[in-house]
Amino acid sequence: MSIFQIAVDGPSGSGKSTLAKGVAKKLNIMYLDTGAMYRTCGLCAIKKGIDPKDEEAVNAMLPDMDVQVKFEDGIQHMILNGEDVTEQIRTPEVSVAASDVSAHLELRRKMVDMQREIARHQSFVLDGRDIASNVLPNAKYKFYVTAPASVRAERRLAELKERGDESQSYEEVLRDIEYRDQQDTTRLISPLVQVPEAVVIDTSTVGIEETQDLLISYINEVD
Ligand code: C5P
Repeated sequence: MSIFQIAVDGPSGSGKSTLAKGVAKKLNIMYLDTGAMYRTCGLCAIKKGIDPKDEEAVNAMLPDMDVQVKFEDGIQHMILNGEDVTEQIRTPEVSVAASDVSAHLELRRKMVDMQREIARHQSFVLDGRDIASNVLPNAKYKFYVTAPASVRAERRLAELKERGDESQSYEEVLRDIEYRDQQDTTRLISPLVQVPEAVVIDTSTVGIEETQDLLISYINEVD
């Protein structure tokens, strides 16, 4: 069977990662979480004491920032300058730093080149913000996954609690989500957009299993 890609874009907390991961498993293909790559860059800025919004400082950091994606038994690990940071990138502080650094052109170029290279050799589901619009405009299938900010904030809060992180209230999580939505949709370079040909999935009313089946039945229909 020939190599194909599935693009899954959408805002923070829309459930796109769970969905993309589940679909990849069902189709027995690889899954790449591109947000994890920007999170690793955000973490790098934090570790180096650099303001993630400061484009010049972030550009100066790039030669010393070695980001690697490793797959172990199909599970994605993020490696920053030789250190496995897969767990470290899941904090609220890193979420905001990721959104800040991801607005910078040079850094995005570096990540997008890596994403294209990774997805070139095997069939992949990629989730992110600009997969259909920029990274893989020729992806065979394109989905846009969304839900209202309040629903996404509730989900994010539950996710943090599950990890034992109770540092944020619902209001704080909602504020972070709205901040990232605003930045991710209004930035000049590769903002989050819904491409006209994408199939839109609202995860606020449909359960995750059902959404996965919906997506797979759509893929089978198109084939
Ligand atoms: O998907 P996740 O919430 O982990 O992404 C973290 C941040 O990385 C997002 O808020 C967004 O700013 C950025 N991002 C991006 N392009 C992607 C994936 C994520 O700009 N393809």
